[in-house]
Amino acid sequence: MTAVEPAHDAAANLRLVGMSEAPSVFSRIVSGEIPTTLLAETDRVIAFADINPQAPVHLLVVPKTGEYRDVVALAAGDPSLLAEMVEVASSLAQEHAGGDFRLVFNTGETAGQTVFHVHAHVLGGSLQEGSLGGA
Ligand code: 5GP
Repeated sequence: MTAVEPAHDAAANLRLVGMSEAPSVFSRIVSGEIPTTLLAETDRVIAFADINPQAPVHLLVVPKTGEYRDVVALAAGDPSLLAEMVEVASSLAQEHAGGDFRLVFNTGETAGQTVFHVHAHVLGGSLQEGSLGGA
């Protein structure tokens, strides 16, 4: 005998689908809805300049998938995609910052993360300050 799902459960499922999170600003850039100048692109990753630069060179490396909210989830779910992001960051640093760079993954609100679609900040260009955390 085939089990029939009660109507109220089906309605709850529909509500859950409707409540899914809106696409992140980076998903909207990946889809082309928000225009940006791409500095690098692979099958799985894009890179572009940060809109509010915090260093002489400040680029963002972003996976096309919005599946991972932060670097912890990405490392657990798809380490090869994380490695690809690092490779793209390194190439960008070669091209735009003389090869040396700082790679930052803000992870969680109190660490400064504002977009919950994993991304790497590539910072470069004579970073002379001694503090990493702004203290
Ligand atoms: P988070 O604070 O999450 O680590 O980093 C998010 C970064 O995305 C910020 O540095 C912010 O300036 C950048 N950002 C937010 N919206 C846009 C946008 O529409 N275009 C670009 N290029 N960067 C953005």
